[in-house]
Amino acid sequence: MPALALNQIDFQDKKVLVRCDFNVPLEAGKITDPTRIDASLDTIRYIIEHRGAAILCSHLGRPKERTLELSLKPVAEYLGAALGRKVALAPDCIGDITGRIANSLPAGQALLLENLRFHGEEEANDRDFAHELARGKQVYVNDAFGAAHRAHASTVGVTRFIATRAAGFLMMRELEALKRLTENPEHPYAAIMGGAKVSDKIGVLKNLIGKVDSILIGGAMAYTFLKARGIETGKSRVEEDKLDVAREILAEAEQKSVHVLLPIDHVVADAPEANATAEVANQIGADKIGLDIGPQTRQRFIEVLQSAKTVVWNGPLGFFEIPAFAQGTLSVGEALSECQACTVIGGGDIVAAVGGQPWAHKFSHISTGGGATLEFLEGRELPGVKALSA
Ligand code: AMP
Repeated sequence: MPALALNQIDFQDKKVLVRCDFNVPLEAGKITDPTRIDASLDTIRYIIEHRGAAILCSHLGRPKERTLELSLKPVAEYLGAALGRKVALAPDCIGDITGRIANSLPAGQALLLENLRFHGEEEANDRDFAHELARGKQVYVNDAFGAAHRAHASTVGVTRFIATRAAGFLMMRELEALKRLTENPEHPYAAIMGGAKVSDKIGVLKNLIGKVDSILIGGAMAYTFLKARGIETGKSRVEEDKLDVAREILAEAEQKSVHVLLPIDHVVADAPEANATAEVANQIGADKIGLDIGPQTRQRFIEVLQSAKTVVWNGPLGFFEIPAFAQGTLSVGEALSECQACTVIGGGDIVAAVGGQPWAHKFSHISTGGGATLEFLEGRELPGVKALSA
């Protein structure tokens, strides 16, 4: 059975455990990018407007133990301002005091439980911890797409103890957008792959071959592929132990008539530093590092994208954190945003690279999930999604 949607649930006077992904970046206790919180506001509003008592929970960072720096306090404050009502932070996510606070939460209000990962039992998917988290709740809503690839107590374990469960709006939006890439995508279908390492993307590349018509490779991972083809890569970042895998992927793509585009020119420098001199080169000198795709490559990529009907993009095409090496990512991004295709941008750094641009709203979907998006594109079932549907 597919997961229920929020409008199929009666929230009136129910205690609702809502798993969110509030794993936002913090600097000196301040939220630097609230995108993930904003993305779940409609789910939370829906529950409280339908007179449920919303008991929100999330992880934040990777604490080994309870630490003040990874308290969800800034998130509770942000939520309070965004929802226009006080959102108290419980002292913990389980335990008698927190249980009492949650049980007495009136309908139409929201409460935030403290960081789930202050307890090692969360990641261990401990049965007793999950039971305790579920205690007193009649409905479970999972809106944490970004954590759906983890079988943790709050994403999978709790579903054993709460019979009524639904996917939140964000979870639904993410799954629908990603399904457009896997279930009958319109052709021509292009995948843009970039980022640091081939090793992170082997599963995705292998799964996409046979589904897409072209794969456009940039970022550091392009250099492993270029070297695998016998092209000089200088001091660019190459994963020597992945050359064979790169060759395999290229051979499989050729066999399945998938067009693989590798960079034909580059922006190179002596070091990935802001004060380094950036030059365009067709061949990478022995002492140079390739740090971005060059203008001819951008043009070739854009030409392919302009005729595509479906595009998925994972990973930046250069060392975008330094403006001199961001042009490949930005010019391809802007051109793609003008395309009529279904365009899905997903996975960690590419969202940071293009998410804040004035044209970013023109993409069909920007995913909030990093690992979850990658695992979905690898063709794997996400445990958090499966647990909602069972
Ligand atoms: P990923 O997390 O795999 O998407 O990788 C993103 C990282 O790859 C970013 O920090 C980029 O700076 C880095 N990156 C992209 N292109 C290059 C390159 N040509 N050389 C070194 N690092 C790169």
